[in-house]
Amino acid sequence: MDETTGDRSSHCGGGMEPIAIWVQPDDEWSLVHRCGACGSLRCNRIAADDNEFALASLAARPVARPAFPLERIGRRPAGGNEDGP
Ligand SMILES: [Zn+2]
Repeated sequence: MDETTGDRSSHCGGGMEPIAIWVQPDDEWSLVHRCGACGSLRCNRIAADDNEFALASLAARPVARPAFPLERIGRRPAGGNEDGP
């Protein structure tokens, strides 16, 4: 993945769509953009003019729309056998 700070234009002219938040080791947030034309990914640090609500909802999206039942977390049997007695 190429990482270019401060450049939000895509290489091929396709529109860059923000798809995820990435928290760097120094707790700085980065936005992951995907090119709508070729699908390449690019990371940018969030900018001062980024919409904070949009950033927060993007970060919360996997939790708000889980791919598996969240109530299942923490209820797995110790042996890992969910069907056994
Ligand atoms: Zn592209």
